[in-house]
Amino acid sequence: MRVYLDNNATTMVDPEVFEDMKPFFSEIYGNPNSLHQFGSDTHPALRKALDQLYKGINAKDNDDIVVTSCATESNNWVVKGIYFDKIATGEKKRIITTAVEHPAISATCAFLKDFGVEITILDVNSEGVVTPEQLKEAMGDDVALVSVMYANNETGMIFPIKELAKIAHEGGALFHTDAVQAMGKIPVDVQDLDVDFLSFSAHKFHGPKGIGALYIKDSQKLSSLLHGGEHMGGRRSGTLDVAGIVGMAKALETANKFIDFENSHVRRLRDKLEDALLQIPDINVIGDKSKRVPNTILASIKGIEGEAMLWDLNKAGIAASTGSACASETLESNPILEAIGADKELAHTALRLSLSRFNTEEEIDYTIDVINKAVKRLRAISSTFAYAPEGHKSGL
Ligand SMILES: *Cc1c(COP(=O)(O)O)cnc(C)c1O
Repeated sequence: MRVYLDNNATTMVDPEVFEDMKPFFSEIYGNPNSLHQFGSDTHPALRKALDQLYKGINAKDNDDIVVTSCATESNNWVVKGIYFDKIATGEKKRIITTAVEHPAISATCAFLKDFGVEITILDVNSEGVVTPEQLKEAMGDDVALVSVMYANNETGMIFPIKELAKIAHEGGALFHTDAVQAMGKIPVDVQDLDVDFLSFSAHKFHGPKGIGALYIKDSQKLSSLLHGGEHMGGRRSGTLDVAGIVGMAKALETANKFIDFENSHVRRLRDKLEDALLQIPDINVIGDKSKRVPNTILASIKGIEGEAMLWDLNKAGIAASTGSACASETLESNPILEAIGADKELAHTALRLSLSRFNTEEEIDYTIDVINKAVKRLRAISSTFAYAPEGHKSGL
């Protein structure tokens, strides 16, 4: 059996999405900016796709949704754009973010430190989130931007974005949220949240890879990251990926149709898996279930290196993760678990399981069985579970 439980890293393209994209590779392949029929043939599909995107996040007509190559680009764009517009100009000095952002935010902020930007990083509590009170304390009239993710990619914990945005605005700052892990899992309504910027990425909700977007409230000014042929109203140059845009829009529309299903079927399977895991002695799952997106579990299994567990799961055909896919090649401890304050040993024993609407009951039953066997096998040979040899990096 092959079981894919790494949907926070990327998802399968929904077959219906793929079907809708196909004509735009081989039949309707013109450049939308060209002044001939091949170009104009793409326009109805683009108009429909943009309409689906606006509806998908409840954007207003005078807002902008600018298509990008991925959420990494969207995140870089907001942070660097604000630097150009508000900080390099001397108007403001500071950006506030959290200790558990995706590297697309945290590394961009770290990069800007060299340009004199002050970065305030809010610590997270034991569930891995920040509170509105923390932001209130950290605010000041020197803050240009507050950037807080909507849901964390590793824990699945949901942040109180509406309240945080309100506090940022009261302090005169703009507010951005990286909503990549929220889309398709919980409703995302930009008017209700009242955020200024919101990033998302199609491949995290059963759309294609290499396409994302940045929502910009009231089409406000944000210096471009990509200069060139003035595509997308001059906001982001580069020939439009028509197939990708059609796919992203269809994927969002479909994901929104499945939100109730996510919160019934997917949540039930996730909870079943989680309840079974919690039967194992010395296992810990981060964050209250009800405060998480419905598909995610971040567990730490005492005495078992995350990579060893992945190896056993992979041999049995199950794909999981030790945490962020971007960091997992380095055999390092899970930075989110460290931020949460888990001790070193726990941070090395992270196992992230992230489901999707394509997972079945049989797959979950099989996974429970495989994990139970793997825990027995690995604990039997684990040195750290029984005693801690001197200098071992994950010694107790
Ligand atoms: C995956 C992910 C990103 C990056 O998205 P890409 O489209 O792959 O660049 C950003 N933020 C979060 C929270 C993510 O999970």
